[in-house]
Amino acid sequence: MKSLESVPIIAYIGLGSNLATPVAQIRSARAAIAAINGVQELAFSGLYHSLPMGPQDQPDYINAVMAIATDLPPLDLLQGLQKIENDQGRVRTGQHWGARTLDLDILIYGDQKIDQPDLTVPHKGLADRSFVLYPLFEIAPHLVVPGKGRVADLVAACPLAGLKRLD
Ligand code: ATP
Ligand code: MG
Ligand code: MG
Repeated sequence: MKSLESVPIIAYIGLGSNLATPVAQIRSARAAIAAINGVQELAFSGLYHSLPMGPQDQPDYINAVMAIATDLPPLDLLQGLQKIENDQGRVRTGQHWGARTLDLDILIYGDQKIDQPDLTVPHKGLADRSFVLYPLFEIAPHLVVPGKGRVADLVAACPLAGLKRLD
């Protein structure tokens, strides 16, 4: 990150993988995100094991959440994350919620609400997904999600749905 020419935004990224050694995919994605010009890692949750959404004929997932400070505009951040997805062999099959080596979603970008054709923030699934809320709560227990309320309340209202934290 250029040394504080602009005030950095705190953003949260959701990571998921269920192909090609998911734990290794999540670890390399963490390093790759931290290496984006304009991004600094602030925190990284534990790794969580979750059951697939949508099509059930696919492997279980590994998920995590990363907090970053960034001076990149949101669409530039999204572009950086999509490049990492592609670099790590993500193939877009057209199947909604199908298996993938890597999924990187922008969960939260500061206090902003963004509603653009290619980017909705906070992420539209955030409040319903245990594999997002539990790791997010782990690293940011006092967070308020713009337009959705306290993460503590969201997590309390969200069933685990098979989510397990790895040791
Ligand atoms: P979901 O968004 O329900 O978790 P997904 O992650 O499997 O599903 P993708 O195929 O990764 O969906 O992304 C589809 C499109 O979603 C992307 O091309 C991107 O433009 C758009 N998108 C909208 N909001 C976001 C966001 N907050 N983070 C990442 N991508 C987003
Ligand atoms: Mg996703
Ligand atoms: Mg995605």
